[in-house]
Amino acid sequence: MSDKYQSFTSSAIGKILVKNLGLPNPTKLERYVAGAPLVDGTVVVGGTGRLAESLGGILETLGIVSTDHMNATASEGQKFKGLVFDATGITTAADLNALRDFFTPLMRSLATCPRAVVIGTPPELLKGEARVAQRALEGFTRSLGKEIGRGGTSQLVYVAEGAEGATASTLGFLLSPKSAYVSGQVIRIGAHGHHKAGAVKDWQAPLAGKVALVTGASRGIGEQIARVLHRDGATVVGVDIPALASDLQTLMKELDGDWIALDITAKDAPQRLAHHLSEKHGGVDVVVHNAGITRDKKLANMAEDRWDSVIGVNLVAPERITRELLAQKVINANGSVVGVASIAGIAGNVGQTNYATSKAGVIGLVDSLADELKNGITINAVAPGFIITQMTDAVPLATREVGQRLNAMAQGGLPVDVAETIAWYANPASAAVNGNVVRVCGQMMLGA
Ligand code: NAD
Repeated sequence: MSDKYQSFTSSAIGKILVKNLGLPNPTKLERYVAGAPLVDGTVVVGGTGRLAESLGGILETLGIVSTDHMNATASEGQKFKGLVFDATGITTAADLNALRDFFTPLMRSLATCPRAVVIGTPPELLKGEARVAQRALEGFTRSLGKEIGRGGTSQLVYVAEGAEGATASTLGFLLSPKSAYVSGQVIRIGAHGHHKAGAVKDWQAPLAGKVALVTGASRGIGEQIARVLHRDGATVVGVDIPALASDLQTLMKELDGDWIALDITAKDAPQRLAHHLSEKHGGVDVVVHNAGITRDKKLANMAEDRWDSVIGVNLVAPERITRELLAQKVINANGSVVGVASIAGIAGNVGQTNYATSKAGVIGLVDSLADELKNGITINAVAPGFIITQMTDAVPLATREVGQRLNAMAQGGLPVDVAETIAWYANPASAAVNGNVVRVCGQMMLGA
């Protein structure tokens, strides 16, 4: 698993060629180290809306140092790690100049891998001029993501009225290196009627006492999901096909977890999972549908088994399992269901009509269940872009090189980037984060 181009650009000859030929020069992204503070630096807070007053206090509970806008511009030469702007007070298009007024003077005072977060009100919950103005924020944050540079990210967080107190886990995620490869995203908190954050005693172990089911857990992205959820305190129950039972068992023993070797497409798989989770663990708090396969072929050559197996593993199985766990009340109150979609399910891809259909269906599952779920249970999905795994190492060099550069970070992401995003959804403090599809794609140019 390597990015040879990135190694090349940091070599002596590489640096000269990058400079003289104007080649992309990817920044080495900072990633979260367990136990470290969430943000290594100061975050500037500004704006005049529903959250402006409370933002400093929310960041303080996360151990994040912040300063307000006025103090920030006063101290010359200081570099800031993050900028958070409360735009919920913007009610007309003319008010949008407050964005420029806040961000422009600070753009030259940013540290490496800086973070920008704009907070708004979900436009669909507003009418008239306010709706227009809030919708406009998307163009701002997505463009900022493409120009911030130096491994920086930019996001828009729409917070529904009443959900102001449920933003801590999201701000912690977006301001920290946990969101290294997430940029240009629009996140909604409280837009589907969930307004309260669940209690978290220890922010280093928010999943303490929780049980997390992870399918496809023996390798790749699933292995990292298992590791990160374990780091956050969860007991992980890993699932994988019987052929990979020994890898699965080794990993789950290392993580003090539990395992079930089964094919998720088996007719009785939902019942077996429901039975195991309720008998052995008294239910489940986090369900991550990570197992997935590709069987690429252009539609003209698509054999029936290629179509059926991809739809079966990637869409039918997660849907059947979710419905069975819900019907048998195996998912505990305030639980979290997470789907793994793909950028292909949003933008489409040559040779992947089957895969993209299945992954768009995963997004459909989120849309369909977000308003239906009871007992504070949430459903969200991640849509990974180019994530460097053994699978992508097998892609021909030229295709791989181009694929990796076509995003604002000019590099591929790592499995841990997907895992951290899932851990944010799973955090009990994210109980108002429902119905979201967040791309982990370095703000890929495709389907943007
Ligand atoms: P991977 O092939 O390394 O891992 C997938 C795991 O799922 C394997 O352990 C496999 O045995 C398991 N699995 C497959 N079919 C199963 C079944 N019927 N029952 C139980 N387990 C089964 O793939 P990965 O790259 O780690 O991908 C993980 C998820 O992320 C998939 O859903 C994939 O579609 C998605 N994804 C990956 C990328 C990427 O760039 N790697 C991009 C977008 C989406």
